[in-house]
Amino acid sequence: MTDLLSLPLPELARWVVQDLGEPKYRAKQLYTWLHKKQVTTLEEMTDLPLALRQKLAETAFIPPVRTRLRLESKLDGTRKFLLEMADGNCVEAVWMEYHHGPSLCVSTQVGCRMGCRFCASTLGGLVRDLTAGEMLGEVYEVQRQMGRPVSSLVLMGIGEPLDNLQNVLDFLTILCSPEGQGLGYRHISLSTCGLVPGIRALMEKKLGVTLSVSLHAPDDAARDAIMPVNRKYPIGELMEACRDYFAATGRRISYEYALIDGVNDSPAQAAALARLLRGQTCHVNLIPVNPVAERDTRRSTRAAVERFARRLGELGVNATIRRELGSDIAAACGQLRRRAAAVEPCTARRAAAVGPCTAADAALPGAGR
Ligand code: SAH
Repeated sequence: MTDLLSLPLPELARWVVQDLGEPKYRAKQLYTWLHKKQVTTLEEMTDLPLALRQKLAETAFIPPVRTRLRLESKLDGTRKFLLEMADGNCVEAVWMEYHHGPSLCVSTQVGCRMGCRFCASTLGGLVRDLTAGEMLGEVYEVQRQMGRPVSSLVLMGIGEPLDNLQNVLDFLTILCSPEGQGLGYRHISLSTCGLVPGIRALMEKKLGVTLSVSLHAPDDAARDAIMPVNRKYPIGELMEACRDYFAATGRRISYEYALIDGVNDSPAQAAALARLLRGQTCHVNLIPVNPVAERDTRRSTRAAVERFARRLGELGVNATIRRELGSDIAAACGQLRRRAAAVEPCTARRAAAVGPCTAADAALPGAGR
């Protein structure tokens, strides 16, 4: 069976002509239904002849992405969606309201194998990659739920996008195609823990997406201790790839730095970070690390966060302390999970959950873990 949602237009056209024996223009019609009108069933494709729809039903499918749970932050209107794939696996996506319009944070894998010590998404390891169609399904399903389109997208949910590069590239190609939703590449940020070959592969595509790099430490010893990926791609190699990415694309790199009490938040480490980034056109996002029940990382004190930011500023580094969204629904960075049981910390606020999802909670795969 062919997954219709995952095929970029040229590949869909090839399939329609070669495998279905239909004229090429049918591919464009089909693609418009799938990616512009974003329908979820073949029955809705009313300008396709019934015989063709029947042929499609026998040979292809549209991967379903369903909302299992929807939580709304009482603090800032952020919404977290637990989305279920056809095989019962779940991922999370987060809708955030900004003055420049809504932004969606999407997942790229079910689980993650990068093993960052402070992150919830990696706790159960990697289950599988998401397909391009499933990532599109995340966007389309949340837009349906919200009744309006996103104006920007961040690949910062569960998973490491550069560990699933081809599917992520297909996802972006389709989402940004004029025959589809037509989102601009410039409104997309891709976050990576630092897979250097992936950064270089992305650079060669020259898409113009913003690269976010999860740095979190200014030297190899400190980074090795919290991010296993650093043993494979140490900071020197990572910085070289980032400088090359900027040179090739003209896009300023955004560095993520989660401040962990006593681990990476000293004034000396701020100075080391400034030395490391000297000469780069970049921006540093400081995030007081978010609590994750299974992790013993403590967030830096407010005073330490401000001192760190001030020190970077004095040393000429462009840095801001990130505003936290959705902290009452565990929707913040590093808190997303593939198991619904883990929405536990916000049980008291379950009232925000919608319809059947609330009742179904206890029955979700992995619930009550
Ligand atoms: N795998 C990608 C994208 C997903 S994580 C990456 O590593 O960049 C999105 C961001 O949240 C990353 O910067 C990640 O390091 C950060 N993060 C993970 N756990 C966190 C936590 N507990 N508190 C704050 N940020 C966290």
